[in-house]
Amino acid sequence: MNEQQFTPFLQQLKLLNPSQKQRLHHNLEALETSAEEVLTVKATLRECPHCQSEKLKPWGSSHGLPRYRCVKCLKTCNPLTKSPLARLRKRDKWLLYAQALIDGLSIRKAAKLCGVNKNTAFQWRHRFLALANTHQAIHEEGIVEADETFFLESFKGQRNLPREARKRGGVGKTRGTSDDQIPVLVVRDRHKSTATIILDRIDAIHIEAALSPLVDSDAILCTDGAAVYSAFCKKTGIEHEVIKSKGPRARGAFHIQNVNI
Ligand SMILES: [Zn+2]
Repeated sequence: MNEQQFTPFLQQLKLLNPSQKQRLHHNLEALETSAEEVLTVKATLRECPHCQSEKLKPWGSSHGLPRYRCVKCLKTCNPLTKSPLARLRKRDKWLLYAQALIDGLSIRKAAKLCGVNKNTAFQWRHRFLALANTHQAIHEEGIVEADETFFLESFKGQRNLPREARKRGGVGKTRGTSDDQIPVLVVRDRHKSTATIILDRIDAIHIEAALSPLVDSDAILCTDGAAVYSAFCKKTGIEHEVIKSKGPRARGAFHIQNVNI
C-alpha cells in the first residue's frame, strides 16, 4: 500500500465498531507474532556457547543483552553469541525487517522501510533464515499449532515478477505463492517448544517429512485446515482441529494465532 492509499485507510479505522477493532488488534498481533517466531532467541543462556559448560555467571550486560561469564573457559557470552544473529547491528529493526519479508516486500523495499542498505538487508535475510533453521524442537505434544509463512527468496522481487495469489492447494500441489518465496513451517506447542522448518515445497510429502518425527501421536494438531495438514492427520491418525483464519481466530483452547501470519 502506498502513502496515498494509506492515509484514507487510516481514516477508515474510525468507522470500526468495538468488535471490529478487537479483530483488527488480534490480526495485528498475529502479524507481529510471525516475525517473532522466526526470530526467537532464548533470552537467557543455559550453557556456554564456547565450551557447553553449564556453569555460567551473570556478568552485567552489554548492548542491551544480558552477559555471562563461563566459569570453565572464562569467556563471556550473551544469548546471541555464536548464533546466526551474533554481531548484527540495529537489533530494533530486525522484527520490522523480518515482517516486511514475510509480508512479501522485496529486499530493496524492506531495506528502505528499515533504513538499512541493501547489503545489510541481504545479510540479515540470510542470517534470519539460518536462525529459523536452528529452531528445531524435537518433540511437540498436547495442542500443537502449525502454519507456514514465507520469506522472499532473493532479489527476484525487484524485477516486478507477477506473483500468483496465495493458493490453498490440494494434496500433492504446492501451497504458497511463486518460486521467489521460501516457505517456513512454524510448529509450536503450549510448552512453547517451537520448530521452524524451511521447506523446499509445501506439499503433502514435505509436510509429512517435517511433522512426522516431531508431532506426538496423541497430539491435537491445530491448523487452518489446508489439505496438506488434513492428509497428514488422516495418514497418521493424529487428531486435527481446524481453525479457520476468517472470523474469530480462537475457539476454546485451540488457536493458531501464535503461528499464523
Ligand atoms: Zn565456556
